[in-house]
Amino acid sequence: MRIAEIFYSLQGEGELIGVPSVFVRTSGCNLRCVWCDTPYTSWKPEGAEMSVEAIAAEAAAYGARHVVVTGGEPMIAPGMVELTGELKARGMHITVETAGTVAAAVICDLMSISPKLSNSTPWEREGGRWAAQHERLRYQPEVLRKLMESYPYQLKFVIARPEDAEEVERMAAETGAEAGRVMLMPEGTKAEMLAERGRWVAEICKQRGWRFSPRLHVELWGDRRGV
Ligand code: SF4
Repeated sequence: MRIAEIFYSLQGEGELIGVPSVFVRTSGCNLRCVWCDTPYTSWKPEGAEMSVEAIAAEAAAYGARHVVVTGGEPMIAPGMVELTGELKARGMHITVETAGTVAAAVICDLMSISPKLSNSTPWEREGGRWAAQHERLRYQPEVLRKLMESYPYQLKFVIARPEDAEEVERMAAETGAEAGRVMLMPEGTKAEMLAERGRWVAEICKQRGWRFSPRLHVELWGDRRGV
């Protein structure tokens, strides 16, 4: 499995925000979000091949109870089902961070699904060569329903424009998501932008009964790897 990084930090988003966690970040993604904050796993994937046993041993060595399997898109990484089995055998609480376009029979305590809205489509980046694939794959309602039925879940949306709320409303209705499990996060890789966008995103959450998620790692450490 190609791994971009393994590190120990605080969960920065969602309902486990602030929980000390080991992050296992796979490299490789089937999407190409224009604002991707880990382009070293998508636009220019980097990383070394590691065995499932070596990944699980390195993750467990930190001594943390929580592990976050993220990417890239971890659900397309070969060996992911085995890796989650190895992590669970070590007694870890497993969060899988996925865009929800692919289902795999992973072991997972929290399926953290972040479906991508139309604000993510890279129409102008690299001449738009990824835009058609991204548009075709980014929203898979059947996969979302299956994941939501199979695991405890949260549905996190990256919000860049006020009108994104209408897309969230439609996706939540089509997939049967509970309002209390829908979370909005402002898009941005700088604390000032998160604060500015966060104020109007918070108003949307109040109006529609959704939850607001900060991006703690960006606020604390900025747009850096390994945090
Ligand atoms: S799904 Fe995630 S890793 Fe893939 S391009 Fe989008 S933001 Fe980046």
